[in-house]
Amino acid sequence: MSEIDWSKLIPKPRSSFLLVQCNECGNKQIIFNHAKTLVKCQVCGAILAEPRGGKAKILGKVLEKM
Ligand SMILES: [Zn+2]
Repeated sequence: MSEIDWSKLIPKPRSSFLLVQCNECGNKQIIFNHAKTLVKCQVCGAILAEPRGGKAKILGKVLEKM
């Protein structure tokens, strides 16, 4: 019976914060890459990211990975 190598099962840490620009108003906002709730623009309320069971789908323009 072989031991489970957890280091191979756990995904490597990746950039988890993104600087996203709103497509509607151009507002720049830092959002979590694995957001579990809808992320809305703080200025106009447009949706910047929506949860997709793990990694969020980014709807705005990604300017930078942090
Ligand atoms: Zn906006």
